[in-house]
Amino acid sequence: MLEIVKYPSKILRTRSTRVTDIKSAEVQSFIAELKETMLAADGLGLAANQVNKDWQILTVSHKDGPKVFINPVICWKSFKKNNMEEGCLSFPQVFGLVRRSKKAWVIYRDENARLRFIKADGLLARVLQHEIDHIRGVLFTDKIFKYTKGEKQVQEWIKQAKDDER
Ligand SMILES: [Zn+2]
Repeated sequence: MLEIVKYPSKILRTRSTRVTDIKSAEVQSFIAELKETMLAADGLGLAANQVNKDWQILTVSHKDGPKVFINPVICWKSFKKNNMEEGCLSFPQVFGLVRRSKKAWVIYRDENARLRFIKADGLLARVLQHEIDHIRGVLFTDKIFKYTKGEKQVQEWIKQAKDDER
């Protein structure tokens, strides 16, 4: 199992790199560990940079077992949006309302390196948008318009991150 990095760790602000050798033993064993880590943490999704690896890989919880998305790209998002409370494994005890598109179409490679396309809606569309933000270095706290828990803590972290940059 891998350690989940917490904000304000710098890798969470890193733009991850594309994965070319999906079938390599290194990538395959990483994917297995990423899934295991998400399941153990009881998360809805987990991106590679949340476990300190700057690869464009993420996993999303699914009733048939974790689904893996490699080099995912959102090619279309619905104009219709909704608001929902989100949390994040890299921000313990922080929750807030985020506005996102209700539907998202995503092109990606699966763990067998096959090119795939999914028309996601509902919770899957939401989790995919959250996780694809992660691999681009974008965090849900950038998008929260109303905190339901942990706002003070986030402000302290942001201040701490700014102090560290000095
Ligand atoms: Zn997250």
